[in-house]
Parts: sequence; structure tokens; C-alpha cells
Amino acid sequence: MFNFLKKAIESFTKKAETKSKPESAVSAPQPSAKTEQPKELQKLEKKLGFLETVTKVITETKIAGEYFDKIFAALELELLQNNVAAEIVEKIRVKLREDLVGKSLKRGQVADIIKSDLRDMILYALEGPKPVDLIIAAKETKPLVILFVGVNGVGKTTSIAKTAAYLQKNGISCVLAASDTFRAASIEQLQAHADKLKVEMIKHNYGADPAAVAFDAVKHARARNIDVVLIDTAGRQHSNVDLMAELEKIKRVAKPNLTILSVDSLTGNDAVEQARLFNDKIGIDASIISKVDADEKGGTVISVVQATQKPILFIGTGQRYEDFEKFAPEKFVSKIFG
Ligand code: GDP
Repeated sequence: MFNFLKKAIESFTKKAETKSKPESAVSAPQPSAKTEQPKELQKLEKKLGFLETVTKVITETKIAGEYFDKIFAALELELLQNNVAAEIVEKIRVKLREDLVGKSLKRGQVADIIKSDLRDMILYALEGPKPVDLIIAAKETKPLVILFVGVNGVGKTTSIAKTAAYLQKNGISCVLAASDTFRAASIEQLQAHADKLKVEMIKHNYGADPAAVAFDAVKHARARNIDVVLIDTAGRQHSNVDLMAELEKIKRVAKPNLTILSVDSLTGNDAVEQARLFNDKIGIDASIISKVDADEKGGTVISVVQATQKPILFIGTGQRYEDFEKFAPEKFVSKIFG
């Protein structure tokens, strides 16, 4: 998983170390004849002796600004192609430039510096506000109402079922609200999970008002002393205006304590666009990113946090209920860097 960075780092380092000029040659005028040594080098040689000079020239490099820009272009492309948001790439560029350009660097140091800079910048980008702990929140607020939003196919229903399974495992009861009354088979799909998990589900007919379904589920939770209400919603893509109006209404009626955006790691830039849109229009508190197991790139996770400035609650790492991990930035960054 996420081996793109390894390749990018190796290629950047190779270019930086093999093509950048030896330190002593940077400020010295270029020799006119092939055999002639730069004056600086001659002076250095006299002072240090031949062996030491050679070692120094071979092992120390200084990367000039122009050359840095040239080799960074390839790393930049690699990061962008792997869905790392442009803002983060720019921050990485500034930091690397500061740490590499014009510095005397020993061989091997370049790789260490870019690894540690990338790690720091990515971790910094991921460590936003801490996500709420659902178990603690469920104990403090009864019922805790959670609204799930996101476009179709991103793994929203699966994430709702995984959340229910996670809560159940921790002794928290829940009820599902089938508020996607728009997409054919959505109610049956959620019902199948409810049956498997043995949790109750509140449903109306297709075409019914989704806000009314959510309202009934909250009422049901209050009456039955159920800890958490998980509301599924429609995710039609073709008419965002209707969808956003519908979600706003559900929000007004069900008054969720948390609104969670579901996004698909594999959709890259689309996921980032969706994150921006839902965050701007509806307001989200956190995201759940599914299909991270199938994502070789990994940049989506970083970019969604950057775009929303909201934490990631869980990542989906497979199709089973237990393939659901609390998102831990440190662990994620360690995975990226192997
Ligand atoms: P929805 O339309 O947003 O409700 O999406 P679904 O929950 O129906 O998920 C769409 C597909 O993605 C299904 O085949 C799921 O099994 C699959 N899926 C969901 N989450 C994950 C995940 O974390 N990893 C993998 N590999 N597949 C997932």
C-alpha cells in the first residue's frame, strides 16, 4: 500500500545526489581546460590532502535552487497524481527547498531529509482536530443522532453497518433510519445489514419524506432507550440542489449531533470535491473513508482532511464489518513510509 512515495523519494534522491554539483565546485569558476582544477578545489586539496578532498567532493553535494525546482517537478507530479492536494504539495515544496537548497549535504542525507520532511508535512496535514470518540459521545448524549451523508456507491451503507457493529461490540445499542427513500433497493440493502446485525430499522415507503423517517427513528430511540440513531441518506449525484435541500431538511428535523461524510478512497479528486461540497453546503463533523484497503495511492485521505479541516473518524479496510479502523494519523503515516 502507498508505495508511490518510496519510488518518488528514491528518484528525487538519485537525481539530487548524482547530478547536483560538488560543494567545492558550486562557487568556484568552471575550469577552462579539462585537466585544470577549479582554484577552490586546488586550495582545498592543499589544505586537506588529496584523499580527504576527493571524499569530500564525492560525498558532499549542494543543491542549487534552479536544480531543486527542476527535480522537484517530478516529485510534485508524483504527489499530485496520487491525489495529494496541491496545497499540501506546495507546503512540501517550501519545506524541502528550505532544508535542501544551498546546504552542504552528505550522501544519504538527502533521502533522510526528504523522508522526514514529507513525513512531517503529511502528519501535520493529517493531525487536525481530534475526532470525537463515539463510545464516549454515546454515553454522554442519549440518543446520539448521527447523520451519514455522501454520494452513491462510496460505501455509505457499509460504513453505517460497520459503525453499528462497532457500537454493538462496545455495548452501545443502535437503531437505523432508512432515510434513503429515493434509490431503488436502498431500504432492502440497509434492512439486510439490520437483520444480520440484529438491530432495529425504521423505514417508510420509497418516495416518503426522508426527514420524517429520521424523525421517527429518533422518537423510537427515545421511547426504547436506544443509545444511538444512525441515519442513512440518499446520495444521488445528478441533482445536487435537491439532495442538499433534502439533507438540510433532515438536519433541521432530526437535529443530528454528528454529521459524517462517507467518501471512497479510490475516487481521488472526486472524493476531495465531494468533501468540499458537503462540508460547504451541509457542514460535516468528520469523515469516514472507505476502500482504503484497495487504494494504492493514499493521497485521498490526506486531501480530504486538508479540504475539510475535519477529522477522519474511521477508515474502511475491507468488506467485513470488522474491517473498520479508528483513524490514527501516526499509524497511517508509518504505513506510507513503510
Ligand atoms: P453506498 O452506495 O454508498 O451505500 O455504498 P455501499 O455501502 O453499497 O458500498 C459499495 C460497495 O463498496 C459494496 O460492494 C461494498 O461492499 C464495498 N465497500 C464498502 N466499504 C468498503 C471497504 O472499506 N473496502 C472494500 N474493499 N470495499 C468496500
